[in-house]
Amino acid sequence: METTMTQTDTRNDLSAVVAADRAHVWHHLSQHKPFETTDPRVYVEGKGLTLWDATGREFLDAVSGGVWTVNVGYGRESIADAVRDQLVKLNYFAGAAGTVPGALFAERLIEKMPGLSRVYYSNSGSEANEKVYKMVRQISHRHHGGKKSKILYRERDYHGTTIGTLATSGQKQRAEQYGPFPEGFVEVPHCLEYRAQWDTAGYGRRAADAIEEVILREGPETVGCLVLEPVTAGGGVIVPPEGYWPRVQEICRTYDILLHIDEVVCGLGRTGTWFGYQNFGIEPDFVTMAKGVASGYAAIACTVTTEAVFDLFKDDAADPLGHFRDISTFGGCTSGPVAALENMRIIEDEGLLENTKAMGARCLANLRDLMDRHPVIGDVRGMGLFCGAELVVDRATKEPMDEARVQAVVAHCLSQGVIIGATNRSLPGYNNTLCLSPALTVTAAEIDRITGAIDAALTAVFG
Ligand code: PLP
Repeated sequence: METTMTQTDTRNDLSAVVAADRAHVWHHLSQHKPFETTDPRVYVEGKGLTLWDATGREFLDAVSGGVWTVNVGYGRESIADAVRDQLVKLNYFAGAAGTVPGALFAERLIEKMPGLSRVYYSNSGSEANEKVYKMVRQISHRHHGGKKSKILYRERDYHGTTIGTLATSGQKQRAEQYGPFPEGFVEVPHCLEYRAQWDTAGYGRRAADAIEEVILREGPETVGCLVLEPVTAGGGVIVPPEGYWPRVQEICRTYDILLHIDEVVCGLGRTGTWFGYQNFGIEPDFVTMAKGVASGYAAIACTVTTEAVFDLFKDDAADPLGHFRDISTFGGCTSGPVAALENMRIIEDEGLLENTKAMGARCLANLRDLMDRHPVIGDVRGMGLFCGAELVVDRATKEPMDEARVQAVVAHCLSQGVIIGATNRSLPGYNNTLCLSPALTVTAAEIDRITGAIDAALTAVFG
């Protein structure tokens, strides 16, 4: 594999860049006190799964850019070329008109999503989800006399960082100190069997029944939509148990509730199918996506829905409030859809869905092997290249491992040159799952190196 940094000669000039970063950049999700004594890491270049930082150190990235994003790997010249060609032709137009890449990507996307037919462009996963919430609210006003406005979300799921999407955060600490929040968002129980709330056979069905209980408590006439991650990401890498999804679909149909699947993480191949929901045979009314859509080569998010939903917004010339009165300025950038078209071609032509299934199975098998030797691993779970190992103090009590030691494992992997993740740091009880989500191009040797680093880190931290 070619993993030589091409900008070696610029390395010596990068200390000024690091100083500028330290002085002026406010990093995401970061405590900044440590930067008073240590330099922030600044990445300079990437190729495949390999990254180089400003000091010239090489890393193997097992988390696709930190947050499950770079599905096709770093350094894709064909995406850069396609974006460049498009930008010099036409970079942008937004509002009531279209662009060539916008039209062509929507068509290609819909080919992969039977039953859905309309694509609404924006910039981030949060924004794509907010669009759904606005659509649901407008449908409520226009078609249900203000009823059916409530949106249900699930404990442990996450849907974004805006005030609206934080109102649907099933990870409560994310929302702490950012309220007050808008009304009409109601939580349903999580479905992680490892931390079961019900002692019952048929756990998946029981966990879905819990959604119905909330609907009946709130009044079905008040509930318009249910939003779920297909596989919960930051809340602990949770694959819903057998029997869950058919019952969820049935409940939504029974009570005329729109089903919104948040594919911001799973979309575009992460679980080995184009979309996570396609593993479970369900038919959503809304699908949102962002991260892997253009693998971070450009900003793009999509809210996809059915013709039936779209019809509810058909412009009524007699009613100036009849259409969806929403815009996203940068939803008109052509860089997003043109990068997304090339991203999709790469996934298809390089057989990355198949690779994701094969390498995901290897990764889970390796993690299960580690479980045999490391009692701190309480559970291993995942789907495709979206794998987690939950760390516990004691397998019998399942007491979650403390954050300091989970982060010590992450840090030890980093010291070996392997970047792994852990579920959200600020969430006690949820921050104890090691996360692996390498690019869909990952090789068997890279998978083994990643899990080998975890093996060494667990031995170093726990003996
Ligand atoms: N939905 C899910 C499932 C996510 O994991 C995230 C981000 O991690 C979002 C939505 C928000 O996406 P963004 O950060 O692009 O707004």
